[in-house]
Amino acid sequence: NQIDIGNPVRTRAILEEYGLSAKKSLGQNFLTDPNVLINIAIAAGIDNEDDVIEVGPGIGALTEQLARRAHQVLAFEIDQNLLDVLDDTLAEYKNVTVLNQDVLKANLPNEISEYFDGKHHLKMVANLPYYITTPILKMFMASPLPIEKMVVMMQKEVADRLTAKPGTKEYGSLSVVVQYRMHTAVEFDVPAKVFVPKPKVDSAIVSLTPRDDWTIKPDDEIEFFKTVHGCFMHRRKNIWNNLQGLYGKDASIKETIQMVLDDLEISPQIRPERLTVEDFIRLANRLGKTDM
Ligand code: SAM
Repeated sequence: NQIDIGNPVRTRAILEEYGLSAKKSLGQNFLTDPNVLINIAIAAGIDNEDDVIEVGPGIGALTEQLARRAHQVLAFEIDQNLLDVLDDTLAEYKNVTVLNQDVLKANLPNEISEYFDGKHHLKMVANLPYYITTPILKMFMASPLPIEKMVVMMQKEVADRLTAKPGTKEYGSLSVVVQYRMHTAVEFDVPAKVFVPKPKVDSAIVSLTPRDDWTIKPDDEIEFFKTVHGCFMHRRKNIWNNLQGLYGKDASIKETIQMVLDDLEISPQIRPERLTVEDFIRLANRLGKTDM
């Protein structure tokens, strides 16, 4: 019986044995703190009722903690060089499958139906490659898979944006777009020193759970996202100026924007970061009813 993969001594031994050096271009920063790894699995509430998707298993440190608790684990690793390593480090866990695929190009529904029985709760857990944090999260949020919870490591700065409340400097279009679909929370912070190699930034574990509790819904999601991005185009400008940037400055357009803001009792002078997700939904729906 070996010590955990994520133990610093074992991680160093594995990297040495295989002559591996972490690839910066693939966002490889290996976690070497068993407590942090265990706490990620605990934050995700993983038990044998769960089937877990993992993005980027690396040398298997988090995969091991997931495999000990979950029914099945399906991990997507882009780096072919890690496949032999994972075969070896995870040999004792019969409930793990590693696919050598770029998760952003994977056909998730197909892979899920091939490897999971559909009778377990579906969760996604990852120490994400930071260069593609947002695309990965957006892909999972948009996917039709019934994912009940995502628990992911990311840069602290991105974690702050995902969980930001209106009126704060971190609150922006990413906060609105993500919080529209998910309840978000920072579970705990993770210092840079527990990774090999040590990244330049601190990190945090964020949990995201799907939500559908809005009292009003966008009439058209594409229009809603367009409104949110348009209103935050220049975050130091007010809503009045940003909406003109989005729709134009003709007298008739200005009049329509004025009327919509009046109707909704939104001051043209306020900055976008003051608006809540519901404000943006209301604004997008009302703008959608005009002929601009
Ligand atoms: N899970 C390991 C850990 O916690 O120590 C490694 C995490 S490391 C931050 C990110 C991992 O994602 C690396 O193993 C990297 O090769 C992998 N990766 C990067 N881009 C990927 C992609 N597009 N699809 C799948 N895996 C990817």
